[in-house]
Amino acid sequence: MTDTTAAQQNPAETRTFQAEVSRLLDIVAHSLYSEKEIFLRELISNASDACDRLRYAALIEPSLAEGDANYRVVLTPVKSSRTLTIADNGIGMNRAELVENLGTIARSGTAAFINELTGDAKKDLSLIGQFGVGFYSAFMVADRVEVLSRKAGETEGWRWTSDGKGSFTVEMAANVPRGARITLHMREGDEEFLESHRLRRIVKTYSDHIALPIVLADGNKEETINAASALWTRPRSEITAEQYKEFYHHVGHALDEPWLTLHARAEGVLEYTYLLFVPAQKPFDLFDPERKSRLKLYVRRVFITDEGTDLLPAYLRFLRGIVDSEDLPLNISREMLQSNPMVARMRQQLTRRVLTELGKKAEEAPDEYAKFWDNFGAVLKEGLYEDREQSEVLLGLARFCSTTRDGLVSLDDYVAAMKPGQEAIYTITGDSLDLLRKSPQLEGFRAKGVEVLLLTDPIDEFWVPAIGTYKEKPFKSATRGAVDLDKIEAAADKPQAPDKPAPPAKLSSLIAIFKLALGDAVKDVRASARLTDSAVCLVADEGDLDMHLERLLKQHRQLDTTAKRILELNPHHRLIERLAGSVGEAGASDQLSDFAWLLLDQARIVEGEQLPDPLAFARRLATLLERGLPAPG
Ligand code: ADP
Ligand code: MG
Repeated sequence: MTDTTAAQQNPAETRTFQAEVSRLLDIVAHSLYSEKEIFLRELISNASDACDRLRYAALIEPSLAEGDANYRVVLTPVKSSRTLTIADNGIGMNRAELVENLGTIARSGTAAFINELTGDAKKDLSLIGQFGVGFYSAFMVADRVEVLSRKAGETEGWRWTSDGKGSFTVEMAANVPRGARITLHMREGDEEFLESHRLRRIVKTYSDHIALPIVLADGNKEETINAASALWTRPRSEITAEQYKEFYHHVGHALDEPWLTLHARAEGVLEYTYLLFVPAQKPFDLFDPERKSRLKLYVRRVFITDEGTDLLPAYLRFLRGIVDSEDLPLNISREMLQSNPMVARMRQQLTRRVLTELGKKAEEAPDEYAKFWDNFGAVLKEGLYEDREQSEVLLGLARFCSTTRDGLVSLDDYVAAMKPGQEAIYTITGDSLDLLRKSPQLEGFRAKGVEVLLLTDPIDEFWVPAIGTYKEKPFKSATRGAVDLDKIEAAADKPQAPDKPAPPAKLSSLIAIFKLALGDAVKDVRASARLTDSAVCLVADEGDLDMHLERLLKQHRQLDTTAKRILELNPHHRLIERLAGSVGEAGASDQLSDFAWLLLDQARIVEGEQLPDPLAFARRLATLLERGLPAPG
């Protein structure tokens, strides 16, 4: 009776999936996913998370787990109905949560990521492979999925059903036990997943590390088919690389190989076990503005939280894994965690340990380390700006591209290769290595064989000035202030240029004319010491923002003014020589003023800057070209 009235008040409601979910489902259903079996890993992983969450909630409110605190996952294959059921007695979901969790994609970054999918099944699949499809992977093997769920502490149960084709239905259901029970109606051809031996093998492969019992209910037999103890509590010698990998996939929501695995027990003032992984691939949410670390905190095997644990600094947020403390109180609240001195201490120790291990890898396996650096160097460098305590260590870990070598170089490599007379570590910043390598400002450095570090991560603009020096050598931008390359001896293989010819006689007059013509458009015009091939370039004045940083800030609307630049002229360039030579000739001064503007605009273009007046540029250029043509007739 009550059931009927409840059903009348809550008629089944059909809703459409969020557009991103529909796209995902479409890809999942229509691609021949080579590892279909991973659907089971995903559903068991969710069941295990749900039990962990209830175990934690019941610490504070024991009545939530009343009646059934033996957390477990039960797999029931039934051949006659072609169904496989995955049931847990975890926290469950109420109506709103069913709609939200199984109809949308909540994980930050994921929705945006899915929007980037190309529609090319092959490419998309490998992309999706990088983050896993979670619950929706059920539709790889099932043409209909039913979820029966009741949330811990609530009385009403719900049924969610969908064929994965655009919509799902939610309705009230009677006599639903606490937790979630997911029934898969197997697709034709996927009957193998109803076979006990197959299920056993899949669980052994992907879910053996799950700390809860996974029970196979076959006919009237029930049997636990996994090891059911937390992986990190087992001795390292008994854990295979394969098991570590599967555990990493589970905690990290990842599908790649771990690049580095750190598993140890800290004993001393604080006792805790950690099992940490550095991914081999860049997670897609690496630059999520929240920059959260995703380590999971356990206290004596009980999962506490993976939010705001502060167990690692933001610049190590790419690590995945768990920390299991013996000392923290079980009922520690998430708020208390943030100010807990034990957590702060663990964070310090874990940070040191991770950096030490990275250092070892850099030393022992530079090629592998280069791959790591390519993925996470930009994140690690945030630490140079944020963690003064570790800056020496981080500077040792940093790697760079440079103008004189092919591979990555360390700052020690750089310092060792400095030329006699060279006092600074020269850098140039920009968006792309290719363009940087062609910068006119580097010509003089190249001529002398002086190495310049090429910096292309936005964070470089911040840590370099914050750090200032390495081994007492100041960092110096190749595009700002004056450079004194004359003091530096040329490399042995680059014979000292035969004494530079004297600058053209009327250079200073030319400079004066240019200054007059350009007026407020530049801060100064001067002869350059850094050019050998190009006629002109722009540089920032010593105290001003470097040009690339300024462009960066403008793009992000952090800045709306532009500092004036210095226009440098190459006194030994043919064009500049001829222009200087023409000073004082009849009718030259108007022409020279046009040249000043043309050369300034040219330098701006090379620098990648917008021309303030492109039309004027075009007009001057056309006039000049026309003048260069032989007279008609
Ligand atoms: P993820 O596990 O990465 O969050 P999923 O697609 O696997 O993504 O699951 C989506 C959400 O659905 C989960 O975050 C969880 O809130 C909810 N969920 C899935 N399965 C269960 C379950 N068995 N019990 C309770 N909640 C679940
Ligand atoms: Mg999941």
